[in-house]
Amino acid sequence: MLYWFVDAAPGYSKWLATHSEDFVVTVDRVLRSADRPPTGGFPAAHDTEPLHRILHRATCETIGALGRGHSRICGPRRELVDSFEGDVIERCRACL
Ligand SMILES: [Zn+2]
Repeated sequence: MLYWFVDAAPGYSKWLATHSEDFVVTVDRVLRSADRPPTGGFPAAHDTEPLHRILHRATCETIGALGRGHSRICGPRRELVDSFEGDVIERCRACL
């Protein structure tokens, strides 16, 4: 199951505490709930602006340093990558 945290959503640290083995894709945009597909995965690439997506380990310290204007999509690595349906995801140089 994938979880979304937009901006400084308070649930993130709670998620991290119980999912430290999972992965996080950071996106440099505040995603709206309308962008979310019913399956809970990643939004379809219908937006005109390309998203800057970076895959991290959940424990990566650069994630905590993100300011406002970001979203985090969290879950098992395979499920995250599959939900992007072939779209390019960068790997974080600090943790992967
Ligand atoms: Zn990282």
